[in-house]
Amino acid sequence: AHLARIEAVDEKVHAFLHVDREGALAQARAVDAKKAAGEKLGPLAGVPLALKDIFTTKDMPTTVGSKILEGWVPPYDATLTQRLKAADVVILGKTNMDEFAMGSSTENSAYGPTGNPWDLTRIPGGSGGGSSAALASFEAPLAIGTDTGGSIRQPAAVTGTVGVKPTYGGVSRYGMVAFSSSLDQGGPCARTVLDAALLHEAIAGHDPMDSTSIDAPVPPVVEAARSGSVQGMRVGVVKQFSGKGYQAGVVQRFEESVELLKSLGATVVELDCPTFDLALSAYYLIAPSECSSNLARFDAMRYGLRVGDDGTKSAEDVTALTREAGFGDEVKRRVILGTYALSSGYYDAYYGSAQKVRTLITREFEQAFEQVDVIVSPTTPTTAFPIGERADDPMAMYLADLCTIPTNLAGNAAMSLPCGLAPEDGLPVGLQIIAPAMKDDRLYKVGAAVE
Ligand code: GLN
Repeated sequence: AHLARIEAVDEKVHAFLHVDREGALAQARAVDAKKAAGEKLGPLAGVPLALKDIFTTKDMPTTVGSKILEGWVPPYDATLTQRLKAADVVILGKTNMDEFAMGSSTENSAYGPTGNPWDLTRIPGGSGGGSSAALASFEAPLAIGTDTGGSIRQPAAVTGTVGVKPTYGGVSRYGMVAFSSSLDQGGPCARTVLDAALLHEAIAGHDPMDSTSIDAPVPPVVEAARSGSVQGMRVGVVKQFSGKGYQAGVVQRFEESVELLKSLGATVVELDCPTFDLALSAYYLIAPSECSSNLARFDAMRYGLRVGDDGTKSAEDVTALTREAGFGDEVKRRVILGTYALSSGYYDAYYGSAQKVRTLITREFEQAFEQVDVIVSPTTPTTAFPIGERADDPMAMYLADLCTIPTNLAGNAAMSLPCGLAPEDGLPVGLQIIAPAMKDDRLYKVGAAVE
């Protein structure tokens, strides 16, 4: 049924870069055979899923939305891919994304934009717009995203779906193409809080192949989603997540959510976190710096595209020609920014200062979580904007992640879930819930209560 749905609508939505029709049917038949043989089935047996094209898959291409990896079929499965298969999930295909996960609209994909199923002329968020659009258009009931600065939560918010950025280190990064390694985090996307929890449990947990993976039990997310409640909880509202640039309808729906939390028995505490105002600036030094280093491996020798290798040019020239042809504008902008920020003489002024700001933000979160159990905010300042509106204005694009970035810098956990439609445009609004590191279960407890 989902393959038929993809066939019917994906020409318009363009959520998928690759649909593995035969592979998906084979996986589904294998589940049937297991069932018929009385074998033990995985926890998500037979449930179809759309996988962001940033995770390696040995039987499907992995492009990261870039021309530089066009046609590359990895020789191995990411740990997350392996865990999905072990859970007997049926992987439908790979979803569209901003190139190397850099963007907030999926317009930076080298393979063309994805439409928001609520209004195909608008963006589905980014970088994981393909995954969120697949959910919102009922092409898949589950999806996987990655969140470096908001790429799971912001797409969830603008498509009226649920997305969770687990605690940094909660889900393995092995086989997830790196953008900014100290921030990147894979996580679950779904249409309900419980569905997200079931997927979260299937993909989370320690992985010896990822040195930053946390070696501790997975927080009890499914149990929390089943027992949703905010009775007696302290909920923080941060002053810095409001003001100029926030759409009236977004603020209205957020304020109603806060009233709902109060009526369900939560105590609301106002918080002041002044360093959060510096998060965007710190992020746009740290993320490009790590990106410039990570993307050095795309040198035309190891993977994918190779341009100009005609026997007359040096290896260096081939590398330069390949990177010129294979990377899009936003990726080049970030590599240049990051290389500059890391150069000797500038390191302390830029990268070093940004790391200090990061520490201050982490401390401010710690202080906040001495007073509250979770923090809530709008996920994004506005609803889905029209395709093209911010394409030539990087700063305007970066502002879409104003509320999501502080969490990535601190490494804690956050969820976005729908909290109604904005009255002025009828488009979905997202409520963000933030919890301390390794307290991901609180997101589901609160999320299930207000869903
Ligand atoms: N929009 C942010 C960026 O462009 C975040 C992207 C992400 O989370 N992958 O960097």
